[in-house]
Amino acid sequence: MYLSLVIPVYNEEESLPLLFDAIHKALDSLPRTWEVILVDDGSSDQSLNVLKTLAEKDPEHIRVVAFRRNFGQTAAMAAGIDHASGEIIVLLDADLQNDPADIPMMLEKLDEGYDVVSGWRVKRKDTFITRTLPSRMANGLISRVTGVELHDYGCTLKVYRREVLTGFKLYGEMHRFIPVFAHSVGAKIIEVPVNHHPRRFGETKYGLNRTLKVLLDLFTVKFLLDYSAKPIYLFGGAGFGIIAISTALLIFLAIRRIFFNISVFGSPLFQISAMFFILGFQSILMGLIAELQVRTYYESQRKPTYTLRETINIK
Ligand code: UDP
Ligand code: MG
Repeated sequence: MYLSLVIPVYNEEESLPLLFDAIHKALDSLPRTWEVILVDDGSSDQSLNVLKTLAEKDPEHIRVVAFRRNFGQTAAMAAGIDHASGEIIVLLDADLQNDPADIPMMLEKLDEGYDVVSGWRVKRKDTFITRTLPSRMANGLISRVTGVELHDYGCTLKVYRREVLTGFKLYGEMHRFIPVFAHSVGAKIIEVPVNHHPRRFGETKYGLNRTLKVLLDLFTVKFLLDYSAKPIYLFGGAGFGIIAISTALLIFLAIRRIFFNISVFGSPLFQISAMFFILGFQSILMGLIAELQVRTYYESQRKPTYTLRETINIK
């Protein structure tokens, strides 16, 4: 199988038949084999029944995975990727906001040697204040913090070579960080403008509060990227920094005592210094515990702490 489209579906009954027509129109002329994995994320409308009907009509292309309840878009995408058999994975939304007609153009970019082709909704059709503006700020921040510069992390329509999607798991609402994880295993990424349409049926499942989650996820992602194989550097670094403050305070108190004869215990600075010392020491110990955890994480799953491009003369 060459191409797998992975589509999360949550209460999109009206959109699905049109989505299929659009996908067929976009892909039928490609000289490639393809499949569509639709993951029903515990919809409470008729989405699953619509999917079943469509799957019966087109068993060659359509595969359906149904969740028992609503687990969220990220989980749905992860399940779709797990069940996909294509060398190339295309992620897109079910609500017709992404346009399957963009896919052939994106595949051409892969042939130019890229591993990830990231859609960018240049003319985004969502409400400005609650969606487009916060998203713009989030994109700037994510690009800055992770060093992977993209204009539109939130656009689901992205194309991936399967290899760059292995080696990490998606938790929480992390799907928007897939390009960052892919980059961390060495993927070459390019951005292309894609179409975006207003939502025609149903309603968006998200609002402003998603921005907060994205911010929190960014902390986790940054930590995982930089320290997941060496947490003591972070905890230990912070610990030494705090102990340095504590030591500086002590030296200050000592100088005051020796040269100006001011009592060490007359100000709260001594207690503050002691508190900082304990805090720093604790932080280093926490780093050691984290080091134990990391070993359990990698070794219990026999996960390597690196990724290979290729091997030569090695069996
Ligand atoms: N979705 C999902 N589970 C959820 C919420 C959303 O599978 O809990 C799907 C939804 O059906 C759509 C995609 O994720 O295909 C994007 O959702 P939505 O269009 O609401 O997000 P927006 O485009 O407004 O960011
Ligand atoms: Mg949408």
